[in-house]
Amino acid sequence: MICPDCKGTGKVSVKEDCPACDGTGEINITDDYGQKRKIKCFTCRGTGKIKDEDTCPMCGGAGEV
Ligand SMILES: [Zn+2]
Ligand SMILES: [Zn+2]
Repeated sequence: MICPDCKGTGKVSVKEDCPACDGTGEINITDDYGQKRKIKCFTCRGTGKIKDEDTCPMCGGAGEV
């Protein structure tokens, strides 16, 4: 039967802390004038989390169990 966890896709989406900002949603930069500033992290768009796809642990990626 079709795997209920991934609905047959073999993939599940997981949310992880953004590696660029360590989940804070902001990154520190030094601008052209040497000023330290915080800007919104563009990797996660300020959310601090990134979506990633992982192989479904239920079916091992087969999509069926
Ligand atoms: Zn980020
Ligand atoms: Zn599955």
